[in-house]
Amino acid sequence: PRKQLIVVTPTFTRAAQAYFLLRLGQVLRLVPPPLLWIVVEMNVVSMETADILRKSGVMYRHLVCTKNSTDIKDRGVHQRNTALEHIEHHKLDGIVYFADDDNIYSLELFHSLRQIRRFGTWPVAMLAQSKNKAILEGPVCNGSQVIGWHTNEKSKRLRRFHVDMSGFAINSTILWDPKRWRRPTLRPIRQLDTVKEGFQETTFIEQVVEDESQMEGVPFGCSRIINWHLHLEARDLIYPKGWLFDKKLEAD
Ligand code: UDP
Repeated sequence: PRKQLIVVTPTFTRAAQAYFLLRLGQVLRLVPPPLLWIVVEMNVVSMETADILRKSGVMYRHLVCTKNSTDIKDRGVHQRNTALEHIEHHKLDGIVYFADDDNIYSLELFHSLRQIRRFGTWPVAMLAQSKNKAILEGPVCNGSQVIGWHTNEKSKRLRRFHVDMSGFAINSTILWDPKRWRRPTLRPIRQLDTVKEGFQETTFIEQVVEDESQMEGVPFGCSRIINWHLHLEARDLIYPKGWLFDKKLEAD
């Protein structure tokens, strides 16, 4: 049987949100099942998102994160933690992947996720609107063995693992059955760190694996880009005169 994929997407209201969710939903629709899409909103579950999920043709759960947060730097962190708690609580079995609503994903990525046993990672290409260059972040591999890391300006701060939020996936049983993985249960709750920006990924990963020997580089050789992380600012979109918009499509 094919391994279940559990795709976690935090989302929030801004211009083009409907477009992002539709586009991601259509990609996920092309991935062979079983796939569960966990979409997490802040404070309230919106009708508009519910409508897109219902029409997506993808198996989904629509969750709400009620943790009070006014910190703009959190950018979806608490929502991802809500999904992790849900997976742990319900003992959902599958490969967990954090997919932001606004990034670009290939079908090869989802195919690669199914090869992961414990912890898989791969290089991600990051594109920023302001800079005219792509930055690589993620593992350098020999076959599926991780032997080094692509680093960038951000990484000059001492991070143990140079992995983007969209550049790794884990077996969900690590969250609720640590004994199976002979993982030291030092910190029982494996949540994303909300304190230091840029350290969230590495802090989380350090709780899940001890070192590179417990990682699997995918696809074989890690020499292909299978998803792109875009830093888009869609807040100040200007619409043509006379257009009417649903709440969801308005710039906030
Ligand atoms: N996000 C969210 N609430 C926020 C900011 C971001 O739910 O206040 C979500 C957003 O929809 C996306 C993910 O968190 O799925 C990452 O956000 P963004 O792409 O803006 O961050 P970046 O990748 O640019 O750091």
